[in-house]
Amino acid sequence: MHAKELKEKLFNNFPNGYKKFEESEIKAADDYSAGYIDFLNNYRTERECAFWAENILKANGFKAFDPTAVYKAGDKVYKIQRGKAVMAAVIGSEGLKNGVKIAAAHIDSPRLDIKPNPLYESDEMAYLKTHYYGGIKKYQWTAIPLALHGVICKTDGETITVNIGSDAGDPQFVVTDLLPHLSQEQMKRNASQIVKAEELNLLIGSASFKDDEESELVKLNILNILYEKYGITERDFLSAELCALPAWEVREIGFDRSLIGGYGHDDKVCAYPAITALLECNEPKQTCISVLVDKEEIGSEGNTGMQGEFLRYFIADLAKAEGLEARDVIRKSTCISADVNAGFDPTFPDVFEKNNCAFVNKGICVTKYTGSGGKYSSNDASAEFMAYIKKIFDDNGVLWQIGELGKTDLGGGGTVAKYISKLDIETVDVGVPVLSMHSPFETISKLDLYCAHKGFKVYFEN
Ligand code: MN
Ligand code: MN
Repeated sequence: MHAKELKEKLFNNFPNGYKKFEESEIKAADDYSAGYIDFLNNYRTERECAFWAENILKANGFKAFDPTAVYKAGDKVYKIQRGKAVMAAVIGSEGLKNGVKIAAAHIDSPRLDIKPNPLYESDEMAYLKTHYYGGIKKYQWTAIPLALHGVICKTDGETITVNIGSDAGDPQFVVTDLLPHLSQEQMKRNASQIVKAEELNLLIGSASFKDDEESELVKLNILNILYEKYGITERDFLSAELCALPAWEVREIGFDRSLIGGYGHDDKVCAYPAITALLECNEPKQTCISVLVDKEEIGSEGNTGMQGEFLRYFIADLAKAEGLEARDVIRKSTCISADVNAGFDPTFPDVFEKNNCAFVNKGICVTKYTGSGGKYSSNDASAEFMAYIKKIFDDNGVLWQIGELGKTDLGGGGTVAKYISKLDIETVDVGVPVLSMHSPFETISKLDLYCAHKGFKVYFEN
């Protein structure tokens, strides 16, 4: 046997999708991406994504989950968790007795949250104080157009939905930065402190209310505008969830339009296919569940994050309807923790270990373990489960690759995988490689996005 043939037989190789795919599949990826771009443009917060999911699920025959009902094969149900997380299930022909299949992604993304008592005037300009959410390079969030999204809950029971800055013609907001001419001292600061947290102040106005006597007239003018538009006073900020996030559009990137740039790919680039794959899942054998959760970026905390009990309750309710014990279902279940990984960046090759990192256009990245250092805080997927994933992806033409988050001792990160696996569920991370992750403008590849949809679908069906 020649070395060439022997190498083909014995070596592992992760091919590039553009070399491997037929033209028709590249076209399919392009078509699929158009829907994703539209989604990412219009749904930017966890609440907005939950709203999107509820609508698309309802439009595709999913009914609001009723814990007292008995469901049969092919039934489709969903539950919205406190407006910020989503669980949707297609009941399989086997019901739940052999466990469920879960695809879990998160729909929160790094951003600048608005503090509870945010509004102030300084030197005749008005600002909102922000508190950053998730892991960001703070300096990246200055001098870019920002939109204000969220809700204000008034004490009379009314909830005001806020979405200013994302639609054409809307005013936008900005965190100002220092001009280079006067930055000699600033540039000596450590990069994490070039812009400090308390310098992330959102500029929201400068026009003064006309009155010669009183002070804080710019702040007064802003509050007057907000009162006339929403009927709110300064005290209403105390019961609001508002955030500033990048206002720019999602766009195709590159002369060849092979990439997509935008805010919030992490992790909407996995959340979107987790839902679209479930929509195409008709009468699977095992019951399939897609879960979209909140708070992943701050440790999956609270009653909308993956450390919460709501997924377990949801499975327990489904199990009970079939006369099964929840724990008997859960221990036979499996999960794809659908989250992004770092894409190899040739400009910064030193942080990657090239045999074990994800490359753009090589398909979805299977991450056996996350965490940091000596695998601390990781879910380490079993070899048995890796073999299953490898088989179903290979047998069904899913382009995939293996990837760790960079070199071993350089950093690290986690996903929801460890919170799901500790329920006694076989779990592995599978997701799309991202460039400039956690920045206000992240980049992914259309082919990889398409592979996520295909991969999750294959997982549900096999
Ligand atoms: Mn993520
Ligand atoms: Mn993240």
